[in-house]
Amino acid sequence: MNHFQYHLGQLHAEAVPLSRIAKTVGTPFYCYSTATLKHHYKVFTSALAGLDAHVHYAMKANANIAVVRTLANLGAGADVVSEGELRLALAAGMPARRIVFSGVGKTQSELTLALREGILQINVESVPELKALNEIAMALGVRAPVSLRVNPDIDAATHVKITTGRKENKFGIEWTHAHAVFHMAAALPGIDVVGVAVHIGSQITELEPFRLAFLRVRDLVLMLRADGMTIRHIDLGGGLGIPYDPDMAEPPSPIAYAEVIRSTLADLGCTLLLEPGRLIVGNAGVLVTKVIYVKEGATRTFVIVDAAMNDLVRPAMYDAYHEIIPVIEPAAGANRSLMDVVGPVCESGDTFAQQRPLPPITAGDLVAVGSAGAYGAAMASSYNARPLVPEVLVRGDAFAVVRRRPSYEEMLALEVLPDWLAGAR
Ligand SMILES: *Cc1c(COP(=O)(O)O)cnc(C)c1O
Repeated sequence: MNHFQYHLGQLHAEAVPLSRIAKTVGTPFYCYSTATLKHHYKVFTSALAGLDAHVHYAMKANANIAVVRTLANLGAGADVVSEGELRLALAAGMPARRIVFSGVGKTQSELTLALREGILQINVESVPELKALNEIAMALGVRAPVSLRVNPDIDAATHVKITTGRKENKFGIEWTHAHAVFHMAAALPGIDVVGVAVHIGSQITELEPFRLAFLRVRDLVLMLRADGMTIRHIDLGGGLGIPYDPDMAEPPSPIAYAEVIRSTLADLGCTLLLEPGRLIVGNAGVLVTKVIYVKEGATRTFVIVDAAMNDLVRPAMYDAYHEIIPVIEPAAGANRSLMDVVGPVCESGDTFAQQRPLPPITAGDLVAVGSAGAYGAAMASSYNARPLVPEVLVRGDAFAVVRRRPSYEEMLALEVLPDWLAGAR
């Protein structure tokens, strides 16, 4: 369910026609809907009702400061994976006590900042990280609140680049070592072991991998408790998938997901931390782009748009499906023909859709790329020296640019010629 719908023949974000935003900010641009963000957050938190569970929104899905503030205002915490995200979370007004820090390669300076700010917990993923954090905490005279992220060796049956819970993946502490590492952590003076963490992957569309992973965590918690350790937090990560293609079966609902949590972990008396990213923002955003040319190839029609793989890399990187929605509503019964929707970047992978049945399209038309709120702007680059595209947030009949497009002057200002090239040519 989202708030990008046709109204009087025009695709709107809530009460704002996307064509109006395009006139003001130019194309391409990302557009997010406040009502959709709120809706997804509420659907997820209502499903968890009755559990001692807290949402720590995974900022890597979309770290826009206005998106994060909107969610913080609803009571969400944040899951960050870098100093940049930590700073953005704090700048968005997220209280430090609601921030969790994840990631396999946190640096000394990142860990130091996290401890100085007094965040809720650091999810440690290896013995070397544990030792480094212990030293930093002792030097600062504090005890670092730590959950150890374990790798449960579960195949999440998702795209190979976003499955993270198998033993071949770089993430978490190897399952068979977990028990020993917990004991080692408990003996370190700078470490306060507060919990267990898992995250098995992203865009997961079945419940069974979650159930198996949660049962493994349950066994571990019981074993650690039997050893006399207090485990207060269980961090379940994120990963629940969303619908991208309206013709595909819907992924499990948050209610069904919460049922798996209830049946595996609810009786342990732990505070549960959840880190959804995509589920909250994925369908709350679109990428609006303008058709530059329609080119008739030998066997295909190419719709060449002004957005490209550097703006939205998911199709190139994960073979992801995104809906392509004309901003002007097609006439009822309009003839559809198969088209490839591609960007201007010099790579064949720069393709948003292949052989997609679309109504007649001509140069100058606007189209929206659907479900682009997660891992869209957040993964964008300036490949081909293309400026990052602006982000716009809509609320009701109002919209605001919440990240502006950099100017070419700003882009050029970062480039420096060395002395030996700076003189006359
Ligand atoms: C990526 C990630 C998430 C969020 O995953 P989604 O699929 O967007 O819900 C949560 N926790 C950790 C540790 C992650 O790496």
